[in-house]
Amino acid sequence: MTKLLEGKNIVVMGVANERSIAWGITKSLHNAGANLIFTNRQERSYNKLVKLLDKHEIEPKAIISCDVASDESVQEAFNEIKEKIGVIHGLVHSVAFAKREDLQGEFVTTSRDGFLLAQEISAYSLVSVTNAAKELMTEGGSIVTQTYIGAEQVVPGYNVMGVAKASLEASVRYLAEDVGKHGIRVNAVSAGPIRTLSAKGVANFNEKSQVVEEKAPLRRNIDQDEVGDATLFFLSELARGITGEVLHVDAGFNIIG
Ligand code: NDP
Repeated sequence: MTKLLEGKNIVVMGVANERSIAWGITKSLHNAGANLIFTNRQERSYNKLVKLLDKHEIEPKAIISCDVASDESVQEAFNEIKEKIGVIHGLVHSVAFAKREDLQGEFVTTSRDGFLLAQEISAYSLVSVTNAAKELMTEGGSIVTQTYIGAEQVVPGYNVMGVAKASLEASVRYLAEDVGKHGIRVNAVSAGPIRTLSAKGVANFNEKSQVVEEKAPLRRNIDQDEVGDATLFFLSELARGITGEVLHVDAGFNIIG
């Protein structure tokens, strides 16, 4: 049987280490037969990624540097992908950032630059990479980003990132409308709390994860592999009729009042 993503070129942004959601996604996409192209920002993440790929015997098509804070860096990265790979069929956006001091205490004290930084890296970056990626998606494509329930409800401490995720989810819908006519879909996975490097910056992370274990219909948390499989679904033909959607992969936590 042909694998779901056999022959498909997929760009994965945001593997920092083996706890990263993007690493769970990488494993799912690799098992589905995808050709993988990676982008990362810090050298530390690059080194970790190279080791992980080696350990798991995954051969990347390319690993390219990209800092989403810079328009030039995004453009150069996609120019390089165009030169090296040509057409792409999918893009995984698993990138976010906020200042640690803005992820605790009261949202009302958020500074102007902290607010703008979170919006820039965590929400605007999806707009800029979608614009660059669509030029390479000449056979249609699928773009998937990662969000959190803090976009819909107040999750104490998530603060500036909750507002950035609300902006990200609205961007998913506006982008879906713009690129839909080119056969490109844009969706988001809303994952339950997962212990990653980024999650360390969020105040009371342990409590959040404990509440999910107690209250979620499945009475447990979810892991990177489950987010990986849901992202694979969005990238595959199985989701061909779905765009502008936010899919919760949270053991059902979001339905509980
Ligand atoms: P990680 O820390 O593992 O991944 C975050 C990634 O963002 C890193 O690879 C980092 O790259 C990248 N990044 C940050 N700033 C930039 C930048 N300027 N340019 C390019 N890349 C950048 O954490 P997660 O896996 O948890 O986060 C991935 C996504 O999942 C985020 O959008 C997060 O909000 C979301 N999410 C996380 C949940 C959780 O509980 N962990 C729950 C729901 C959603 P580098 O290391 O090179 O700086």
